[in-house]
Amino acid sequence: MGGLFAGHALFDAGHDVRVFERSAGGLSERGGGIVAQPRMRRFLADHGIADPAALVTTTDGRQYLAADGSVRREYDEEMQFTSWDAVYRHLRGAFPDDRYRMDSEVVDDDQGGGEVTVRLADGREATGDLLVAAEGWRSTTRERHLPDATPEYAGYVAWRGVLPEREAPDDLAATFADAFTFFDGGGELVLAYLIPGSDGSTDPGERRLNWVWYDTVSDLDRVLTDASGRRREGAIPPGGLRPDVVADLRAATERHPPRFRRLVRATDDPFVQPVVDLTVPRMRFERTCLLGDAAFVARPHTAAGTEKAARDAVALSTAIRDRDGLDAALDAWERSQLRYGRELVERGKRMGGDRLGGD
Ligand SMILES: Cc1cc2nc3c(=O)[nH]c(=O)nc-3n(C[C@H](O)[C@H](O)[C@H](O)COP(=O)(O)OP(=O)(O)OC[C@H]3O[C@@H](n4cnc5c(N)ncnc54)[C@H](O)[C@@H]3O)c2cc1C
Repeated sequence: MGGLFAGHALFDAGHDVRVFERSAGGLSERGGGIVAQPRMRRFLADHGIADPAALVTTTDGRQYLAADGSVRREYDEEMQFTSWDAVYRHLRGAFPDDRYRMDSEVVDDDQGGGEVTVRLADGREATGDLLVAAEGWRSTTRERHLPDATPEYAGYVAWRGVLPEREAPDDLAATFADAFTFFDGGGELVLAYLIPGSDGSTDPGERRLNWVWYDTVSDLDRVLTDASGRRREGAIPPGGLRPDVVADLRAATERHPPRFRRLVRATDDPFVQPVVDLTVPRMRFERTCLLGDAAFVARPHTAAGTEKAARDAVALSTAIRDRDGLDAALDAWERSQLRYGRELVERGKRMGGDRLGGD
């Protein structure tokens, strides 16, 4: 997403842009729910990508359940949600095909003469004024430039799942339709909300239930070893968890309120991602810069990952427009985005500590 936000922002500002994406395909079928933050919605509208109102589901309140299912606390709060795949599809659909290259992994960047040349895994090269590395939290460009800046495991994972509303038993979807719903116990936090269907529809009956369960996990090796026996470093996508891990997950819902228990047990392919903190001391290396999760990862309680990528991209394009020369623009951009990234990561640690009783 960060690559597409930057691609749109810079292309619309008149720059000659190419996006190189490592994946060979299938990205639009991935992902779960995201909070549709105002800046991300504004980006879609400002760049003529989509009408954000057509991409979101809305709740009017927030509720916290007790283990027996009764409502322990509730208050009014309007929230808007969408899905990763819906936003990605629109960003991608509105971006020129001839400028978006899939199956194109960047493996090196070389600086010289005010230019940067990237080398791809298949040997191709491309030269330009600026490389924006929006490679996610396991960015290899960051590893080359900042080998000591490594993501730190926060001590808990996010189990996640998505269940089509029409496959949900009885009235389950209706119980989550009006309020952003939570359950927090010692060392865990579960939440759920409705998101658009896999075709993007926000009509009742067509939507999906999205749940996230933050759970303290000390044996990360067990959880992150997938069904084929491979130890993953990052997330395990839907269908990749070992059957014994899924069975344990379903059994552990015994301690959750009945509606969360039913939701998790009815979900076919739960997936998992470790929660990490990442900060960097620099975001710019001559004509290469790091954007989005490649630079800073704030815990998901901030609900800011997608918005941060959009914000980094808009700030970059604005700095290039307003400053005299690319070097001055990149300096100014780095200063402001370093400050913003650090604050967000600290806020995420505080929120995670408050909610899970951790650090
Ligand atoms: C498939 C997928 C599903 C996601 N689902 C959710 C979700 O449901 N909810 C949520 O809150 N967040 C989700 N995220 C994370 C969310 O997109 C990010 O937190 C946020 O949008 C910031 O994005 P980013 O572009 O910085 O990093 P990412 O979204 O991680 O994107 C990085 C991209 O760079 C590509 N890449 C990595 N290395 C290279 C390389 N060397 N050369 C070329 N390409 C490379 C990756 O294939 C990936 O597409 C998902 C990310 C992905 C990739």
